[in-house]
Amino acid sequence: MPRGNALERALSGDPLGIGDVEELMRWDLWELGRAASRLTRSLFGDRVTFISNMVLNYTNVCSVACRFCAFYRPPGHPEGYVRSPEEAARLARELDAAHGLRQILVQGGVNPELDVEYYEELFAALKSAVPGAAIHGLSPVEVDYIARRGRMSYREVLDRLRRAGMDTMAGGGGEILVDRVRREIAPRKLGTDAWLRIMEEAHSMGIMSNATMMYGHAESVRDRAEHILRILELQRRTRGFLSFTAWNFEPGNSDLTREYPYPATAATLLRVVAVSRLVFRDVLPNIQSSWLTNGLDAARLAIRFGANDFGGTLLEERVIPATGSRANAMDRQRVVDIIRSMGMRPAERDNWYRVIREYRSRGRR
Ligand code: SF4
Repeated sequence: MPRGNALERALSGDPLGIGDVEELMRWDLWELGRAASRLTRSLFGDRVTFISNMVLNYTNVCSVACRFCAFYRPPGHPEGYVRSPEEAARLARELDAAHGLRQILVQGGVNPELDVEYYEELFAALKSAVPGAAIHGLSPVEVDYIARRGRMSYREVLDRLRRAGMDTMAGGGGEILVDRVRREIAPRKLGTDAWLRIMEEAHSMGIMSNATMMYGHAESVRDRAEHILRILELQRRTRGFLSFTAWNFEPGNSDLTREYPYPATAATLLRVVAVSRLVFRDVLPNIQSSWLTNGLDAARLAIRFGANDFGGTLLEERVIPATGSRANAMDRQRVVDIIRSMGMRPAERDNWYRVIREYRSRGRR
């Protein structure tokens, strides 16, 4: 027999069903935040991690045409671009010289002109330009496309990418792992089972990845709960997710703008972060605060609602500016100052969430 209410069960570490997670999603926000924050402190103390990274949006050409995406251009569009491996390596080298990169996040569209050889050359060029940075690249969406284009298995694609230099796989394309929602917002994108299957294949090969969620569009509260539980279910089997990042749908300049004209509030981010902490606990311990779409104030608050990682400096990111939303330029010192301003202790990490440099805290504790 289930004991107590959903929050009590979450705090005791009891298994939670979808009804419990849905109940948590509707819980009093402050109570939720207090509980999530206590749990986070018990796991991480006052340490908040971050990484110095860049985002390489290597192409904006994409044939998947997700209805929420303001970044892509269809094949043949005059504003379409592809970065050559040499150009990408030059940019990475410059940013590394200026900022000291630990990670290159490689993300782009599903460009029908690009085959597995392009990615092999790209990763090899990046590795030789910045050997100290890990390549956190692509997502199940690109892996699925490369496999179909080259008539290869997922395993073959992942193996070739890894041998070329891919260290971990990014978690893009997760959005909401409920097919009814996916059909509405991205009808040509791979479905829930395929996204999870590619993640599982990668994990089984020792390629770790991150899990993501994009909320604030066609999904219900129950869909949010189901999404979180699908990720937890896979994580229990593989322990291959390094982190979880949730962000809101940015409605500017996309096909979905008319149906969902306003972004979700910061309170929704805090709720999602707090519930994910209570559900994931130490099974998927690293939860990012997601400053890029919700802004720095919301990201600061997210640290008080269950997040333990500020994410990356995200130099050169181009997807969010395409929505018309203003993204702030960040560097290492700015992130350190923000974390310190909350009375927390900043720590720089690597791609695998290992702490590589501790900073002293300052101010309120
Ligand atoms: S979200 Fe990704 S897959 Fe979808 S249209 Fe944009 S670039 Fe293409």
